[in-house]
Amino acid sequence: MKIAILSRNPKLYSTRRLVEACRTRGHEARVFDVLRCYMNITSHRPSIHYKGEHLSGFDAVIPRIGASVTSYGTAVLRQFEMMGVYPLNESVAISRARDKLRALQLLSRKGIGLPVTGFAHKPDDIADLIEMVGGTPLVIKLLEGSQGMGVVLAETHNAAKSVIESFLGLKASVLVQEFVKEAGGSDIRCLIVGDKVVAAIKRQARAGEFRANLHRGGEAMLVKITPEERSTAVRAAQTMGLNVAGVDILRSNHGPLVLEVNSSPGLEGIERASDKDIAGMIVEFTEKFARTGRTRTRGSG
Ligand code: ADP
Repeated sequence: MKIAILSRNPKLYSTRRLVEACRTRGHEARVFDVLRCYMNITSHRPSIHYKGEHLSGFDAVIPRIGASVTSYGTAVLRQFEMMGVYPLNESVAISRARDKLRALQLLSRKGIGLPVTGFAHKPDDIADLIEMVGGTPLVIKLLEGSQGMGVVLAETHNAAKSVIESFLGLKASVLVQEFVKEAGGSDIRCLIVGDKVVAAIKRQARAGEFRANLHRGGEAMLVKITPEERSTAVRAAQTMGLNVAGVDILRSNHGPLVLEVNSSPGLEGIERASDKDIAGMIVEFTEKFARTGRTRTRGSG
């Protein structure tokens, strides 16, 4: 098969591993920087050009679209879809997962466990917003944040009020969330391929930190997950319509709570901790479904 990998940087671990996995399995793989793709959206003959070359003959496309290029990146992916190229994750599924509010609303509709969460753009009554999610301590998140940046723990009502006020002063929407203390500074990343959790790691925050992100100095280790965690992770990915996803879960006293569904999960931490060939599994899945020409998006909204 001829497989396009959309990634801004061919040197990234995940991109390199996907290229390698494609080639090991006898496929031709090419990496394209989405921002350098330009498109012709004429009726009947949608096309994509890259550095003067007309891209054609691709069987599948593996999107690795960074959060900062979601809009243009999903447009390029959509163009591949319109050309009949099989997308590992569909553009609409990526858009759903990237929009944190939309994602949480869709997950809640499916009855998937979530931390109690409020969101606001310009609330006139911040005290009421805080009470609405059960009071302090609570976690306040900037909607545009990633890798744990823009995630703050406010222990007291006054601290919460001033953090919310300053975030809103920056004209940013905020998400206000119950603090799941019993998670003890750790979260579980479940890597989904198809309908299965193929690997799960526990990320533990360093001492004195509640955010478990590896970028914030967290540590990753292999973990055994419960059947309830497994089914929660699979349902969360299916709700988004993602074939490949990283579902982040907090272990609470009342069961697994989904924090986020990541549509371009990093492979380095999870492959190293699990010693599994996840890139190979992703390419194998792509092979199986691209051949039948089936897209599997089941999410909606
Ligand atoms: P980002 O998308 O920037 O990584 P997250 O929402 O995943 O932000 O939060 C970063 C980390 O902070 C999580 O991995 C988790 O360890 C911790 N965390 C986030 N929300 C909560 C919460 N409501 N209760 C307890 N810990 C949390």
